[in-house]
Parts: sequence; C-alpha cells; structure tokens
Amino acid sequence: MNEDNSDHMAQIIDGKALATRIREKMKDRIPQLEAQYGRRPSLYVILVGEDPGSRIYVRNKINAATSVGMDARLIHFDDDVSESDLLNLIHVLNEDPLVDGILVQLPLPAHMNEERVVDAIAKDKDVDGFHALNVGALWQGTHGITPCTPKGIIQLIMSTGIPIAGKIAVVVGRSNIVGKPVAKLLLDENATVIITHTRTPDLKAMTTQADILVVAVGKERLITADMIKPGAVVIDVGITRNADGKLVGDVDFEAARKVAGYITPVPGGVGPLTIAMLLKNTMECFLNHAETHSRVSKLWTTIINARIGSK
Ligand code: NAP
Repeated sequence: MNEDNSDHMAQIIDGKALATRIREKMKDRIPQLEAQYGRRPSLYVILVGEDPGSRIYVRNKINAATSVGMDARLIHFDDDVSESDLLNLIHVLNEDPLVDGILVQLPLPAHMNEERVVDAIAKDKDVDGFHALNVGALWQGTHGITPCTPKGIIQLIMSTGIPIAGKIAVVVGRSNIVGKPVAKLLLDENATVIITHTRTPDLKAMTTQADILVVAVGKERLITADMIKPGAVVIDVGITRNADGKLVGDVDFEAARKVAGYITPVPGGVGPLTIAMLLKNTMECFLNHAETHSRVSKLWTTIINARIGSK
C-alpha cells in the first residue's frame, strides 16, 4: 500500500454489524438451551447512584441481554448505600443457582472500595472478568472469564481476516480494563506486542511500527495520520465528547482513513462488541453452571440408586 495514494481509504470495521451477527446467533440458540436445561441465561446488573453515563451503559446492557432472550435484571441502589449492604447482596446472588452473571457498574461512589466489591463476586459469575482470580487466569493462560472490551477488540481484528500471528501490535494505554488485558490477548495470538503509556518518550516511533494499533486512552486526536503505518489495522477504543458534544475516539478518523488498511469508527466500533462480549461471557457462565448442575444431578441419581440397591 502506498502512502501517496490519495484515493486510498481504509476499510471501516463495522462493529455494529459484527455485534448484531453475534447477537443474532445467540438469540437463535437460547430457546434450544432453555429446552435443554429448563431455564435461560440470567444476568444481574447492579447500579449504585445516578451517574448519567452509568445509567445509559446499564440500560444498554440490560436491553441487549433481554433482546437475545436472556433474563436480565437491574438492581439499583441509592449512592449512599453502605458497602456492606452491597457486599451482602452480592453474596446472596453468588449463592443463587438461578443467577449466571453478576456485573457491578463502575465507577462506584468514593466511600466504596471497588476492588473489594469486584472481588466479592463469585469468580464463575464475574461476567466483566475483573475479579483478581480471572485476571490471574488471563495472565497465566488458564481458564477464566476474559474482560469484554479486550475480547471484543480481538474479534474486530479477526473480522478483517488479517492474521494476528507474527504481526507487530502496539497498544496505547495500559489500564487494567483495556490496555493490559488486550496486550495479553494479542500475545496469546502470537503478535509481538509493545505497550505504550504516558512515559513512552516517542509515541510516534512506536505507533508507526504497528501492523495492528490499539488505542485506549480517552484523548481526542491523540493519534494523527502520520503516526500510523500504511495499511495498519487501527482499533480506536477511546470514547470522549468533543467541544461540539459529539462522541469521538482517540484517532483522527478522517485523516487516518487515508493511511490505515482497516479502522474502527467511534461510535459503532468497539462499543457494540463490548456489549456482545458481555452477552458471550454470560452465556459461557450459564453453560458452565448448567453443565455442572446436570453432572451433579447425575451423581445424585447414582448415589440414590446405590442406596436403594443396597437396601
Ligand atoms: P484509563 O484507565 O484512563 O487509561 C488511559 C491510559 O492511557 C493510561 O494507561 C495512560 O497512561 C494512557 N495515556 C494517557 N495519555 C497518554 C498519552 N498522551 N500517550 C500515551 N498514553 C497515554 O482509561 P481506560 O479505562 O483504559 O479507557 C480508555 C478509553 O477507552 C476511554 O476513553 C474510555 O472511555 C474508553 N473505553 C471504551 C470502551 C468501549 O467499550 N468502547 C470500554 C472501555 C473504555 P499512564 O498509565 O501512564 O497514565
């Protein structure tokens, strides 16, 4: 691909369409699962307080889960609820065999310890994948729940058909919810990964090496066209509102399109995949619970038959 080719336009990776396809498949499968296991996957979302952004995110998650046929419930607390009340609720949901997924919408009010709250969620119901044991499983490469946004980013890259193995992937941002986990997932796919942050001396020197560039910062136009390798796959995770109140990413989209090979828009790129992956994680938790339940039931049948037989 040639940088001088002024007609060149990157292909847009349509996150909305990809997420719709994933959700449609799930929608078709849920009635079959209900017939097999006698119940549908269930997701409980806990919201504390009235933050307008959080209210929108929570509503979108509940609507998405309901639209594919899951049983989705919202539990809404006032922002002065005590941490111990919240923890007690989580413990009750942890013990409830009809609950597959529990999600506490972050951020929590300042009087709560987020880490303690997230780690109170049962590891096998932690659909966000933020529990310390799931984070450990991700880094050890053992079985756990993978956080939604990083998981969605990998799906977006794979949807281009460009193999990840052998590529140089540069991640801008090193947060626990996006930057670090997506870097690990890219490593798992055999990319050579560079993680950059505010202390990276020459960001452009790193980003221009990237065959795959994932930007998760939250700063409008941080990545300009001259920072992109021609033909690169560019995944823009950032979401901020610009001076006109418009939702924008971290990449100067219009200019970047003339250089990149593939690029995600904001909105309509990573966001829809994050929600689709939340549904996938809920489905995985459900299948895990339903299978365990059916194995335990069979064991009980064996034990009861043995008792009857020995009388
Ligand atoms: P975060 O916790 O604030 O982390 C931002 C990261 O960017 C930090 O690691 C920071 O480096 C790095 N950074 C800041 N300025 C930089 C610069 N000039 N050059 C290089 N690195 C820089 O944010 P986050 O939670 O990861 O979220 C990032 C963005 O993604 C936000 O806009 C958020 O809204 C969006 N997001 C979108 C979705 C979605 O579903 N679409 C999901 C999650 C997040 P240091 O570590 O050195 O401070």
